[in-house]
Amino acid sequence: MPHPNADRPEAPPPSPALPAGALPRFEQRHARELPGASVPWRPVPVARPALLFLNEALAAELGMDAAALRGPAGAALFAGNLVPEGAEPVAQAYAGHQFGGFSPQLGDGRALLLGEVTDRAGRLRDVALKGSGRTPFSRGGDGRAAVGPMLREVLVGEAMHALGVPTTRALAVAATGEWVYRDDRLPGAVLTRVAASHLRVGSFQFFAARGDTGRVQQLLAHAVARHDPELAGLPVAEQAARFLERVARRQAALVARWMGLGFIHGVMNTDNMTISGETIDYGPCAFMEAFDAGAVFSSIDHQGRYAYANQPGIARWNLARLAETLLPLLHADPDAAVALATATIDAFPGWYEAEWRAVWRHKLGLAEPFDDAGDTRLAEAWLRLLQEHAVDFTRANRLLADAAAGDDAPLQALFAASDGGPAGLAAWLVHWRARGPRGPAALRAANPRVIPRNHRVEEALAAATAGDLAPFEALLAALRRPFDEAPELAPYAEPAPPALSAGYRTFCGT
Ligand code: AMP
Ligand code: MG
Repeated sequence: MPHPNADRPEAPPPSPALPAGALPRFEQRHARELPGASVPWRPVPVARPALLFLNEALAAELGMDAAALRGPAGAALFAGNLVPEGAEPVAQAYAGHQFGGFSPQLGDGRALLLGEVTDRAGRLRDVALKGSGRTPFSRGGDGRAAVGPMLREVLVGEAMHALGVPTTRALAVAATGEWVYRDDRLPGAVLTRVAASHLRVGSFQFFAARGDTGRVQQLLAHAVARHDPELAGLPVAEQAARFLERVARRQAALVARWMGLGFIHGVMNTDNMTISGETIDYGPCAFMEAFDAGAVFSSIDHQGRYAYANQPGIARWNLARLAETLLPLLHADPDAAVALATATIDAFPGWYEAEWRAVWRHKLGLAEPFDDAGDTRLAEAWLRLLQEHAVDFTRANRLLADAAAGDDAPLQALFAASDGGPAGLAAWLVHWRARGPRGPAALRAANPRVIPRNHRVEEALAAATAGDLAPFEALLAALRRPFDEAPELAPYAEPAPPALSAGYRTFCGT
């Protein structure tokens, strides 16, 4: 089915109304509580809204009527043609360090926050559009997004969610029926994204760069109310200090989870690091196949700044940028403020290391009593082995379950097929067994079989771009069962043929 894209946008069709009660009540907490942090703005209507994806489970979680959203009114809503009642969309302002260089004004150049809704569990969640047209922050951009990158956010975000990693999530993707022009002419789409919030390190940098300490303090109060309500009543200096620590600990936990999955975010700019601790912005990200601590996939990351092994250090660097924005709140004496901030930033590596060790204890099935130094050495030795042999990271970890069941043959075969041969594996397994690993079921629950393999993602997105959603839907269904041994998932568990994984590059697709 070819995409009926228009070359010159035609008049958008009239939008059918949503049935009453199809959506929860929208609030405007961000817009109201943070004057100066956003601009009221409307999505630009598109020619031919058509729903490509609806996350029914997430819709239900948000108290939305998924059946009603499947119809033409849902397509209009998720394309930005129909602004829900009570929503007052805004483009959020933020700044950010991109690849180390500071931009005092980035902001939602192609996104809009529709507002916040309270989900069934009582949590406040942001609902935002991405690809909804130009805004005052668009700079040279067209404000639009293509089908491929928006469906990529669905695939990787849903995979992360199924893997238990904190993440923003895709609620829907609607085709626009309009072309967007990148290197190629591509069908356009709008993503609806749900997040604990869209506050980023760059949100704080926006006001700090303007020397507006009052607004930084307002933003702190708003962020605390949303993410750290336990800190709400504290004096501001103590609140700022404890908030910085909370954000740092959330990032330590998040990045440790990424590392345990071989996930490379690819664009860890300060505007892409959340305050909530959720992963955001699945642009040039990738899961590595053959283990390489230096792996970089992004075509725009020329220096390897955001390589796999650099991610914890970059998280710390970004947190130092957040700390800088809080200095005037931390202490009236600038030297004392710097000392407080530095103490937290210097504590980050220890927090990260503890999270990393917990991740690897889980993955290697190490039970109590724990031995910090010994467990770290065992995990590091395993990673050295994976690196020396360049074996598939996900497969190698998964096959530990077979080894735990007494069958080393699959792991031996994986290593035997590598450049280095099986050397070193047997000795490591002896150390591992001496540590008394848990049984195969525990190891299978800790090490996924199905991850979004790059060749599968590319194949699904290419088909979707050409109008065939079947491979996308099949891949999504598999990604929602990452730990499942079911035989029908085997095609999604296989590494890419070497010719495809060699030189694999991701593009921002903006
Ligand atoms: P990202 O790399 O996607 O996090 O985006 C970095 C900045 O570029 C943000 O301010 C985005 O809003 C902006 N941006 C990215 N793509 C576009 C686009 N097509 N049109 C306008 N702004 C964009
Ligand atoms: Mg971004």
